[in-house]
Amino acid sequence: MTIEDSTPEDVTSVEPRGLVLVNTGDGKGKTTAALGTVLRAVGYGHRCLIVQFIKGSWMYGELKSIRRLEPEVEFHRMGKGFVGIVDDNLPRVEHEKAAREALAFAKEKLASGAYRLVLLDEIFVAVTLGLLAVSDVLDLLDARPAATTLILTGRGAPPEVIERADTVTEMREIKHAFRQGILAQRGVDF
Ligand code: ATP
Ligand code: MG
Repeated sequence: MTIEDSTPEDVTSVEPRGLVLVNTGDGKGKTTAALGTVLRAVGYGHRCLIVQFIKGSWMYGELKSIRRLEPEVEFHRMGKGFVGIVDDNLPRVEHEKAAREALAFAKEKLASGAYRLVLLDEIFVAVTLGLLAVSDVLDLLDARPAATTLILTGRGAPPEVIERADTVTEMREIKHAFRQGILAQRGVDF
C-alpha cells in the first residue's frame, strides 16, 4: 500500500480527538505553521475556519491561496488594523469592539461543531494589547467541542492558556532578515 492509498483511518483512531495547539514566541513561523496544518486538514476534506484577529498582520498572499481552498476553508478577517501604530487613527473603543465581535463570532462558530479545525490567528496579540482578557481565551477553550482542533497563534501566549493546551511551540528568533535591514518579502513574509 502506498501513502496515496492510505486513508485517515489507517493512521488515526476512529474517533477524532481535537487538540489545542499554541504557536507563540518572537520568531518567524507562527502563522505559516498554523496554515500548514490547515493545508494538511483540507487534504482529508476537513472543514476549517480561520479568524484573523489583528488585521494588517499580513496574510495577503495567504488570502488568495485560501480562496482556492474554499469551500472547505472559510476565512474571516475581523480586526480593525494595527493598533496604536502605523496609520491607526481609529479610537481605541473601535478596536475593542472589533475584538469583542471577533471573539463572539469565533466562539459561536467553534461551539457549533461544524469545523474540524479552527485557527484563531494573532489572538494573543489582541490579549497583549488589552483588547481581550485572558479569561476570554479560556472561555473559548471551554467552548471547544472534543473533536475540534483549535490553533491559537501570536506572541505572548498567556501562561494560563499554555497550561491548558496540548501542544505548545515557541518560535524563537535566532536570526531574522529584517534585522539586517532586509524588508519583508512578498511570498515569504506576506
Ligand atoms: P509568519 O506569518 O511569517 O509565520 P509569524 O506569524 O510568526 O510569521 P508575526 O508576529 O505574526 O509572525 O509577524 C508577521 C510578519 O512579521 C511576517 O512578515 C514575518 O516575516 C515578520 N516577522 C516574524 N517574526 C519576525 C521577527 N522576529 N523580526 C522581524 N519580523 C518578523
Ligand atoms: Mg502571525
